[in-house]
Amino acid sequence: MRLRTPFETSMDRLDVRRIILLEANVDGVTGWGECVAAEAPFYSPEYADTAWPVLRDFLWPMVKGRRFDSACEIWGLLKRVRGHNMAKACLEAAVWDAEARQRGIPLWKLLGGTREEIASGVSIGIKDSLDELVETVRKELAAGYQRIKIKIKPGKDLDQVRRLRQEFPRIKLMVDANSAYTLADFPLLKQLEGFYLMMIEQPLGWDDLYSHIELQKQMETPICLDECIHSAEQAHAAVELGACKIINIKMGRVGGHAMARHIHDICQQHDVPVWCGGMLETGIGRAHNIALSTLPNFSLPGDVTASKRYWAEDIITPEVTVSPQGTIRVPTGPGIAFEPRLDLIEKLTVRKERLV
Ligand code: MG
Repeated sequence: MRLRTPFETSMDRLDVRRIILLEANVDGVTGWGECVAAEAPFYSPEYADTAWPVLRDFLWPMVKGRRFDSACEIWGLLKRVRGHNMAKACLEAAVWDAEARQRGIPLWKLLGGTREEIASGVSIGIKDSLDELVETVRKELAAGYQRIKIKIKPGKDLDQVRRLRQEFPRIKLMVDANSAYTLADFPLLKQLEGFYLMMIEQPLGWDDLYSHIELQKQMETPICLDECIHSAEQAHAAVELGACKIINIKMGRVGGHAMARHIHDICQQHDVPVWCGGMLETGIGRAHNIALSTLPNFSLPGDVTASKRYWAEDIITPEVTVSPQGTIRVPTGPGIAFEPRLDLIEKLTVRKERLV
């Protein structure tokens, strides 16, 4: 699916998403999941072309024909496979959707969510010019979004933040570096403290807790971890050791709803707020993110936005919309409560495999 505008981060520039959708038949009830693995192994070692064979050759045989009482049990069935969390999450999420539909309740209620609406923020890719960045932020604020996150990388950082603070002194602003810096960049990161950012997301190595601990000791601004947190153990270590004060939870990165909820609970016990990150999802992944974001400790605006920010036409109906106050109303129908548009999905499909 072609993005409406190319999305640039410190890792990559992207115009087209290749997405794996999984349609699961669970006792005759259909559930849908989306694999958020990217086109290339830049955000994580996993990518779309690893997820496909892992799903087909390893994960599917582990659940095929198995009896289980709840989607909660899927994680345990898959645990022999190490890593490949995005592939696992895609399968697990589809079963959660099916279970909620079987029970006739919304997925967010099945997960234990408590919010009827969620706060929405935007993630803005790296722009060619400061003027273009300012105009993009102005447009997103006018659309109602409650917080602005910009992607940064060396050479596209301080000037960007300084200019945005001049133009918008009072907005909720944060930056995401996707691991583009090292501790040697401390003087620069320290300068960012002058702009009262809500947080600095994943400034250092994608798998480097130690350096984040050292950095957070010397920074007032909260560090938020994204790439570093791919298990409950890492989340626990990060909050106990002070590597961060906030965690961005992505269901795909941690292996599904059950693990996302577990990490949410660990953070809650440590008074660490969480928010839901985005992976340029279509409506199906977006709908799962909405359900997850209703858990009580998702107390900061996430990256879950309206469908139309990314897609000319989304593959679900209705599309996800955001109110002028920057909130998304949580749907009340069974399952993810958005219906996949089968005709459009068929039209966009380039490869299909049926596993029985
Ligand atoms: Mg991030």
